[in-house]
Amino acid sequence: MGRNRVWYHRASRDVNGATLRIAKESATCRFVMIDAHTVYVDDSGTDGKSRIVAAAFCVSPVNKWQQFERKWNAIARHAGFKHFHMTEFAACRRDKPCKQCVCGKTSLVDHPWRNWSTEKRKNVLNRLAGAVIEFVEYGVAIAHTKQDYEDHVKNSPARLVAKDPIGDEHFTYAVQKCGGELAKWRAEKNIEPPLKFIFDLATDKQSVVLPSNLDSQGLVF
Ligand SMILES: [Zn+2]
Repeated sequence: MGRNRVWYHRASRDVNGATLRIAKESATCRFVMIDAHTVYVDDSGTDGKSRIVAAAFCVSPVNKWQQFERKWNAIARHAGFKHFHMTEFAACRRDKPCKQCVCGKTSLVDHPWRNWSTEKRKNVLNRLAGAVIEFVEYGVAIAHTKQDYEDHVKNSPARLVAKDPIGDEHFTYAVQKCGGELAKWRAEKNIEPPLKFIFDLATDKQSVVLPSNLDSQGLVF
């Protein structure tokens, strides 16, 4: 999560990862600790070569993310990896090492799974997925082709009558769709605490476009 930045947080003061709010109780005021939901956002397919774009949100309170991190690190220590990237994991196997390993740009230190048996690969992946399921309260993802977005959303006449703003970029639209689902989930559950977003941003453009789109969607309370 090295490149991640917490870029949005308002309507509250942050104290040791939890959120401090003032709530009225009888005639007096008291402080109530309420966890903010932290949304981890990831996207895929933003480079020009990719035909499909995807976005995903994982949402949980700070204390659950901390538990998740402990569990993840324990799995990593036990399995013998430092950083896990699904694309690199999927592309590098015993019988077929990835291009980077073949040309010497990466080694077993970077891709320890290159030596793993199929059984170990499955086992580690299941444990990592299990950690996500255990500690993430809500998750949503969307994937679509760029062509479908261009034909049926961006250049569609229906766009002119849409009530909500629609992103001009593939990735912005995908993130907006996830944001819309998250807003519905929060409304159903009557969840009010503020949201924090953590983006794994690939480009400066994303960091400019996304905040304004999420804000205009009323996602940040
Ligand atoms: Zn490799």
